[in-house]
Amino acid sequence: MRERTLGIIKPDAVAAKNASKIIDMLEVNGFSIIGMKKIHLTKEQAKKFYIVHRERPFYDSLTTFMSEGPIIVMVLEKENAIEDYRKLMGTTNPKEAEEGTIRKLFGTNIERNAVHGSDSMESANFEIPFFFSELELM
Ligand code: UDP
Ligand code: MG
Repeated sequence: MRERTLGIIKPDAVAAKNASKIIDMLEVNGFSIIGMKKIHLTKEQAKKFYIVHRERPFYDSLTTFMSEGPIIVMVLEKENAIEDYRKLMGTTNPKEAEEGTIRKLFGTNIERNAVHGSDSMESANFEIPFFFSELELM
């Protein structure tokens, strides 16, 4: 089934000028970029986006990181986009990620791991409208 997922190039990867390499990997792997913008989240906005993790010990540090500099948010479309993009990203901890994955190539540690991707249809349905209006995705 053709589906949509929300991808983010995180502040570490944008600052390191790895964004174009990551976007190239997305296109090579068959993802269509349906929407894309560069924004700088406030800490409050990052806390809202990651609200599902509010009880986790890394919540404060994660949301500080996600608001330290600009990010690139993208709506990606493809058959099986959610699962396939998670595979292309690699595991949360870049040190454990498979060779050739985005996080293996561009991640630094378990927090500064270069990219985000929706982990389910339910998260995609929260995350896509968090950043994009219906009008932007027509
Ligand atoms: N994170 C962290 N420490 C951890 C686990 C996660 O700093 O022990 C950060 C990391 O940036 C991760 C994000 O929190 O990408 C969201 O965590 P999640 O478990 O949802 O991982 P993901 O879905 O991004 O692989
Ligand atoms: Mg997650």
